Amino acid sequence: MTDFLIIGGGIAGVSAGSELAKLGRVTLLEMESALGYHASGRSAALYEQRYGLPSTISLSAASADALWDREVLQDRGLMLVGGLDQISDGRREAEQMEMLEIGLDAAQKIVPILNPETVGFVAHHRETWDIDTDKLIQSFARDIRQNGQIVTGVTVDSIERTQNGWRVHAGGREWTADIVVNAAGPWADHVASLARVSPIGLQPKRRSMARIPAPGGFDVAQWPMMLGVGESWYAKPDAGAFIVSPAEEHDSAPMDAWADDMVIAEGLARYEHHVTEPVTRLETTWAGLRSFSPDRNLVLGPDPQVPSFVWVAGQGGYGFQSAPAAGRLVADLVGGRSPELASDIVMKLSPGRFQ
Ligand SMILES: Cc1cc2nc3c(=O)[nH]c(=O)nc-3n(C[C@H](O)[C@H](O)[C@H](O)COP(=O)(O)OP(=O)(O)OC[C@H]3O[C@@H](n4cnc5c(N)ncnc54)[C@H](O)[C@@H]3O)c2cc1C
Repeated sequence: MTDFLIIGGGIAGVSAGSELAKLGRVTLLEMESALGYHASGRSAALYEQRYGLPSTISLSAASADALWDREVLQDRGLMLVGGLDQISDGRREAEQMEMLEIGLDAAQKIVPILNPETVGFVAHHRETWDIDTDKLIQSFARDIRQNGQIVTGVTVDSIERTQNGWRVHAGGREWTADIVVNAAGPWADHVASLARVSPIGLQPKRRSMARIPAPGGFDVAQWPMMLGVGESWYAKPDAGAFIVSPAEEHDSAPMDAWADDMVIAEGLARYEHHVTEPVTRLETTWAGLRSFSPDRNLVLGPDPQVPSFVWVAGQGGYGFQSAPAAGRLVADLVGGRSPELASDIVMKLSPGRFQ
């Protein structure tokens, strides 16, 4: 018997578990053989506080202190890059993200491969950080193990309500719990249907990534993340190499996602259009699923019809940067404490908004 049974060992599950372990005993079940195998092992690992909807920005801002305390942030910076026909769009986006427009000469001092013949707009700021995502997952997992257990390699395949709580079957074993926490990422609606709880209408969307050698043999370690205006591509240093994403959002079923070659090729072409160094070789490619609710706000808290079933879902492209505050909000709501976030934000994140 456990107080909280969490389904899903991505960042959503471990961050909620870290906070819930302060309230009671936690059991986290993950179907893969390791934590963070799906979206949480495939992200761009960036913390950009001004990225996303207002509710996401609030969660990300409220997560900053915990991310610093856990020592997972490292300087990166962000550079918004637009073509000659994207100057007005670039200015609008730069204003939204509180970035400073800079001239091409200044920009080339930071990223020497910007192409003067094709780049029409650049803005920059330093207040964007890399997240050590593995360290963050392991840090939350340690908190869970202080008052509970993590079991990998078990797929939850039935969830039954009992008089006192829940009976869950996974990996041929039975588990009982007072509260079930649904942190199953792209599978969260499926998990809800196993428990006979109404689904939210979550849509997993694939996003691909390619790793290429450092362009032109440059030492790219200090370069900022480069983001194409309109989120049409992005690129950033990654362990001495460079990762480039087409930044696509293609609907997908919940699955072990893989990159689409054509989408990667088109994304690389959009990146190459803005730089002087061609892509000569792909080291590897991968893809992950970013899961969105119908209004693209996260879904955090007890289900309104079945309060002992708690949602931690719809993290979209923000699961890491919002994780500490998302976990705290879930624990506040479950524990009957008043949340630190403003009530209109809590409402925007509530599963009740879909009923
Ligand atoms: C290419 C890409 C770039 C990204 N960049 C960023 C970024 O820069 N910054 C940021 O903050 N976020 C980013 N994200 C988003 C972030 O990765 C996700 O929001 C986050 O990983 C979602 O975490 P999750 O735990 O909800 O889902 P997942 O990581 O998918 O975890 C869900 C887990 O549930 C398990 N599960 C499902 N069903 C069952 C079952 N029946 N039984 C047991 N286990 C089950 C799965 O195996 C899985 O491990 C990016 C995502 C992608 C794909």
